[in-house]
Amino acid sequence: MDPTGAWSPTDGHAHHVGRSSRSAWVLRSLRVCDARGVSEQLPEFPYHPDPVATGCVEKSDATCLSCEQARGLIYTGPVYAVEELVDCLCPWCIADGSAAARFDAAFTDHLPVYGNVSEAVVAAVTTRTPGFSGWQQ
Ligand SMILES: [Zn+2]
Repeated sequence: MDPTGAWSPTDGHAHHVGRSSRSAWVLRSLRVCDARGVSEQLPEFPYHPDPVATGCVEKSDATCLSCEQARGLIYTGPVYAVEELVDCLCPWCIADGSAAARFDAAFTDHLPVYGNVSEAVVAAVTTRTPGFSGWQQ
């Protein structure tokens, strides 16, 4: 019946809190590192929503001929241009149209006929959308 017993609940508690807040801190810094390591978000292609799944955008450390950066992903699908452009354009340059403009390139040579397709849509699909060999359905 000794209230000032051998063990000290206060100390024990303090140590425990110290340890868990330290691991929370480590976890937080790991997350920050992770966020830095993740490459940029793939641009959105409304007419070809997942070019990685279709295999025409692949992980690569190749340098893009258009923006001259190695951004971690490279377009591997067909390019219709005067120059031979194989596996050397990044999806970002396709998405913003700069690759098509710079090399006078298209990525799809023929569109399925939908009836009333506006020029703008045709331009978006042929010059700002990754093409792939099996485009025709
Ligand atoms: Zn690029």
